[in-house]
Amino acid sequence: LLPCAGGMVLVSSLFMTRSLDYGAAVAGIWLVFLALPSTLPEQTGLSFILIYVLAVTGFGTLMNRSYIVGSLRLMKARDDFRLLAETDALTGLENRRRFIARLDEVVAEGRPSLLLLLLDADHFKRINDRWGHSVGDQALVRIAEAIRPGDEITASARLGGEEFAVLLESAEAKDQITVLQGFADRLALSTLPVSLSVGAVWLPGETSSASALVAADVQLYAAKEAGRHRIFFQGQMICETLAAQALAG
Ligand code: GH3
Ligand code: MG
Ligand code: MG
Repeated sequence: LLPCAGGMVLVSSLFMTRSLDYGAAVAGIWLVFLALPSTLPEQTGLSFILIYVLAVTGFGTLMNRSYIVGSLRLMKARDDFRLLAETDALTGLENRRRFIARLDEVVAEGRPSLLLLLLDADHFKRINDRWGHSVGDQALVRIAEAIRPGDEITASARLGGEEFAVLLESAEAKDQITVLQGFADRLALSTLPVSLSVGAVWLPGETSSASALVAADVQLYAAKEAGRHRIFFQGQMICETLAAQALAG
């Protein structure tokens, strides 16, 4: 039965994630096997048993540590890759993939109190043309900082290029316009170098993330058509969103 105890020690090395647990399991296995007199042939020498126990325990500890270290590395790599796959590299906001998955969840849950906003920087091409691409990049980072989650902003993302999306908390239906005006104030306080056009929709009225995005895009288009730097909601301008130090001109 001695090889059987050794086998159990080695197998348990693959399942115990904490050294303490593994130590306790190993001690338990050896105690049970060695305490039962019938498990050892009478002529077995004490030194042989000692060497056997030490060798198997040592090998098991090595296996346990290397397996755990390997598993932890694998888990960290998996988390790093997931973060990379869901994050916009320039701004650190969620990317389109993560935001749409979130929107799917929110619509499926039927959460009643959220506004979806699509934001598009106005005349952004001019900033690149006039000031260079790196100034354009800095402007995108400034926009991202202005809309990072917190307070009423439940989530925000860079959908691509100079387009962003925001989920805004609005507890009561009658509050929607106040909440949108508050969002415009927040943008104004951020002294962005570029104005934004914004299209907003009330999520509970939407049946899918796709329909919500299309509806918000219609509002965004209306905001652009009406002259840019403004928020549109239910076909109407709610307020303006002028840039304090507009670089686009
Ligand atoms: P509009 O007001 O109609 O939205 O005009 P616009 O110039 O903002 O829109 P348009 O779609 O014509 O141009 C978008 C510009 O955004 C073009 C592209 O060079 C720039 N852009 C997209 N992604 C990036 C980026 O990652 N960094 C920088 N610097 N510019 C970008
Ligand atoms: Mg655009
Ligand atoms: Mg634009």
